[in-house]
Amino acid sequence: MAVAKVTIKKGREKPIRNRHPWIFSGAVSIAANAVDGRLVTVVDHKDRFLARGYWNSKSQIQVRVLTWEDETIDDAWWQRMLGRAWQSRAQNHAGAELSANRACRIVNAENDYMPGLVLDRYGNRVVLQAQTLFVDRHKEKIADILHSDFDAEQVFERSDIDLRRQEGLHPAVGALVGGPPPDRLLLNEGALYHVDIVRGHKTGFYLDQRRNRQKLHELVQASASASDGPPSLLNLFSYSGGFAIAAQRDSDLRAVNVDSSRAALELAEKNFALNEYDKPSSDACAEHIQADGFDYLRYCVGEGARFDYVVLDPPKFAQHKRQIARAARGYKDLNLSAFRLVKEGGYMMTFSCSGAVSRDLFQKIVFAALADSGRQAQIVEQLSAAPDHPVALTFPEGEYLKGLLLRVY
Ligand code: SAH
Repeated sequence: MAVAKVTIKKGREKPIRNRHPWIFSGAVSIAANAVDGRLVTVVDHKDRFLARGYWNSKSQIQVRVLTWEDETIDDAWWQRMLGRAWQSRAQNHAGAELSANRACRIVNAENDYMPGLVLDRYGNRVVLQAQTLFVDRHKEKIADILHSDFDAEQVFERSDIDLRRQEGLHPAVGALVGGPPPDRLLLNEGALYHVDIVRGHKTGFYLDQRRNRQKLHELVQASASASDGPPSLLNLFSYSGGFAIAAQRDSDLRAVNVDSSRAALELAEKNFALNEYDKPSSDACAEHIQADGFDYLRYCVGEGARFDYVVLDPPKFAQHKRQIARAARGYKDLNLSAFRLVKEGGYMMTFSCSGAVSRDLFQKIVFAALADSGRQAQIVEQLSAAPDHPVALTFPEGEYLKGLLLRVY
């Protein structure tokens, strides 16, 4: 079947030549035979080849680019691209993550040049997320390749993110290869975690925070002798307790997990029980509080509470550039209260996972919150997603997770 042609307006081809993978409706001049969810060849106003990608007229991003070479997108292409992503995880940083009870992101969508496709591996299971119509149409093939070429025993689909609605798609959850996953599976990151692939957030777990959980663990260990009595952690937007569980490894730290989701806190409680065996003393404990994060912070400030560590990992506040101002107010409010709660010489880990909020802007917002709080803080480290979530250099939007490790005085 011939591939339809999309012609770009004169003067709008530069980002495409610079290998940005998104082409917005405003840049397209003619798209005569383009069919939603099918391949298109992108050319400039002089009919010169620019890229090949896929089309969806329903989305603001009408073309997502698969390649800037004039090559065929067929099964062999998928095998090659999936192989490349798989190999990079196996060879680099996350090699150990590919063994049983370990988890790792295998394909990070646009950042691995497979826009709209996320693959997370939990042991020998792979969880697939098809974010766009084109990927949705190819998901069975992708699952078959994962099974036949990469020994994935099961491929389970968690295509239930909001983005699909903009593509005209309904949520899809279910087994693509093999049976359904077990109700709960165990993940080993040093600490142990229950992961709920079927109902949990994302593909079951926040794999992107792995390195930062580890950092918090190391920080607590390093500071252990300095503090008198068991240290304390306020883990805001805790989900299944990830940061608290890591911080409590080999420590008698007291944690308070706060989340609006009852199901998330139930998982956090189970995770605490799962790891109780390696606590040095019975001081270690965890409270699980179902509350709005903003309200709970204000309550703590009112009570004059103080913690050695505060982690702030809120959900995405800005879905689009239009929502940046509102998101900035939200981040500032949270960080202002959080600064007031950190003990003298304590630490704060603060994050934004909004792709539309740049690292630079986030740092400015945190700075503004600090100024209002009357405290002092040093940046000890810039934080980002774990290295199995690489960011394509030509796709700044791919750097969605940014954070700061701060020492507060
Ligand atoms: N820190 C977690 C991930 C947090 S994701 C980890 O490392 O695993 C954001 C969390 O915020 C989700 O668990 C969601 O349930 C929760 N959440 C969303 N809105 C909230 C609100 N207004 N108050 C409290 N929690 C909220």
